[in-house]
Amino acid sequence: MLREAGPLRRGEGNIDEGGVSLERALSLLFDLISLDTSNPPGSEGEICQYLGNLFSREGLSWDLISFHPRRPSFYSFLEGRFPGSIVLTGHLDTVSPLGSWSFDPFKPFQKEGKIFGLGACDMKSGVALVLDLFLKFSRKGKPQHSLKIALTSDEEDQYRGAQSFREAGVLDDALFVLELEPTDSLPLIGEKGEFWVRAHFRGREAHGSTPEKGINSVLAQAKFLLELEREVSLLPPRDFWGRTTLNMGKIQGGRQPNIVPESCYSELDFRLVHEEHRDLVQKMMEDLGRSALPGATFFWETISYKRPLSSPRENPWLSSFIGVYEEVLGERYQPKIASFCTDLPTMFPEAAPPFAIFGPGNILQAHQPDEFVEISSIERAGRVLEAFLERVLFP
Ligand SMILES: [Zn+2]
Repeated sequence: MLREAGPLRRGEGNIDEGGVSLERALSLLFDLISLDTSNPPGSEGEICQYLGNLFSREGLSWDLISFHPRRPSFYSFLEGRFPGSIVLTGHLDTVSPLGSWSFDPFKPFQKEGKIFGLGACDMKSGVALVLDLFLKFSRKGKPQHSLKIALTSDEEDQYRGAQSFREAGVLDDALFVLELEPTDSLPLIGEKGEFWVRAHFRGREAHGSTPEKGINSVLAQAKFLLELEREVSLLPPRDFWGRTTLNMGKIQGGRQPNIVPESCYSELDFRLVHEEHRDLVQKMMEDLGRSALPGATFFWETISYKRPLSSPRENPWLSSFIGVYEEVLGERYQPKIASFCTDLPTMFPEAAPPFAIFGPGNILQAHQPDEFVEISSIERAGRVLEAFLERVLFP
């Protein structure tokens, strides 16, 4: 069921500073939050229907790109005079409401310059900005290059929405991509790689009173993990990328205290600053796995891999974007990259076009109970994006 844009509680004072009206973006944000797209289970049908109605009312054509009937992504474009496109992208799904919320996560409200609700930060405020900008520019005539919007499903799980864009090939002509994930309105020009693995140990069961008769797979796993942690921390950092990190997110093994456990596995999340670090951590795992405990067998498997991506600072589209950012916000830019992974490596698995990750909200507010976004952050991001698009699309 669709709902109409609800009345906005305003009057916080800073909404209209800078000349960009945020009224529509905030009204869209309220609507987007109230449409449940939590993933798992993942369901983007209703939000896409809402977007379709919105675009149809504006006389704009749109399309759904789906990997499953209930898992559509939303796509639209304004055709340009010249070949190539500028792509605005974000994801429609959110994580499931985690932890204890002190209010209904699907009933957004505004308080003290912030909008609260599930996805307010990650990343329905970014999506609301994409929509608001697209609707604004749709009334300005033909842009220099096409302006495309790609709003994906399933980013919070397996990036299958991004994958369906990849398969549809509609973004193949991208000249520059703006990914509106929450960066606190600071351009990020790269993202770490994400390498997930499952590491298994197999030993031999025995009675818990005679542990020397068995081979303890939990002990092997523990020794392996402690040593792996130490070795990963010794990998050299990369200029402005920071370090390759390791999170041990899951461990499972054994049955009960009085049985020497036969099998144990762990699930690991490496965030890589170099593509070559993937080979290095694989080699580390193999060496440490083999020597962890005499008699224990070790093997590992890849759960998923997204390579690290970066955008060349000297690229004219990127430098123009950074230039507009510095001009509009009066700040000097120091290159930074995202420690988190976005849809981009899945959308562009071979050669990624130049890009910037740039959106409202602080990633520290994402995936948290009582999630919020600061209105001033939406306003800052909106000003930069609008000025940049104006400059490159309607010079
Ligand atoms: Zn996100």
